[in-house]
Amino acid sequence: MIETGEMEFAPRMISPENTSEDSDIEVTLRPQSLHEYIGQEKVKENLAIYIKAAKLRGEPLDHVLLYGPPGLGKTTLSAIIAHELGVNLRVTTGPAIEKPGDLVSLLTSLSDNDVLFIDEIHRLSRAVEEILYPALEDRVIDIIIGKGPSARSIRMDLKPFTLIGATTRAGQLSAPLRDRFGVIQRLELYSKEQLTDIVRRSAMILGIPCTLDGAAEVAGRARGTPRIANRLLKRVRDFADVMGNGEINQQIASVALGRLEIDELGLDSLDRRMLSMIIRGYGGGPVGLETLASAIGEEAVTIEDVCEPFLMQLGFLGRTPRGRCATKLAYKHLGFKFQDDDNQLAL
Ligand code: ADP
Repeated sequence: MIETGEMEFAPRMISPENTSEDSDIEVTLRPQSLHEYIGQEKVKENLAIYIKAAKLRGEPLDHVLLYGPPGLGKTTLSAIIAHELGVNLRVTTGPAIEKPGDLVSLLTSLSDNDVLFIDEIHRLSRAVEEILYPALEDRVIDIIIGKGPSARSIRMDLKPFTLIGATTRAGQLSAPLRDRFGVIQRLELYSKEQLTDIVRRSAMILGIPCTLDGAAEVAGRARGTPRIANRLLKRVRDFADVMGNGEINQQIASVALGRLEIDELGLDSLDRRMLSMIIRGYGGGPVGLETLASAIGEEAVTIEDVCEPFLMQLGFLGRTPRGRCATKLAYKHLGFKFQDDDNQLAL
């Protein structure tokens, strides 16, 4: 359905979080090898060496922490790592591991050199994290049997394995957990050129005719995020089917994305609402995150994870210890007059 109210539609379109609607195509579109994985060159180069070295020695890969905004390919990369290593992948998330026992059964079910992927690893509970420390460091787990004075601790050996942790918030990881990852890699937002390649690849897999300028138009508005690029491609296809002959070209893409209220830089109504609030409601800032969130009726975490990385990359938003500020570029983009004063962050 394309006709959806702005308030619910816009945040969903640009949200880099996985939705059930994405899941069906994500499986089809996931690159299977490092070679197919577009962009993130430094990360790929490093991982290729570590994977080769681990395979040469017949050892498991060192534990890997991948961090960066959602939708950039952390889950995809972990599947590729397991695939390149020729081992099994077990996938879970921090919140899904509720009790230490859940983690124990996951760890004991792994075969030699398998990869365990824990998404949102910053959301593991303290009790579960404590099981993980000796597992990561010495490949053992300590299990408490019984209760009270008769409780005994039994030490169990684990098979060699690799943990891949993914997080949008490396800063929220406890230091002891972070220190146990031998490889820490940050994923960056993608360039327009890289996203154009991703859109073209996805269009080819899905059998959607798409011109180069059509792919570039979609890519340019995808906030540096492959998940959003693929989602926009799907929506633009609807317009191309109904309004054109099924081919996505620059004109159709531009009309479709305009109808979805995503502007030529990729800002959607939530970004614009947020920046307008800083400018009109708080004289350009600084304004605290919580205050801003409640002023626009959005959750602080959405603003932090979804809007801010992108707006900061565009140079539209400044984060100071006293709060968020709209920059001169943001004023210009939204058509506001910028008046230099102490409260505003001129670029
Ligand atoms: P994350 O785990 O960081 O939230 P995912 O790995 O689930 O992100 O990636 C979301 C989707 O984006 C994947 O299904 C895949 O189709 C696409 N994708 C991500 N990174 C790439 C890439 N480098 N090349 C091609 N497609 C990618």
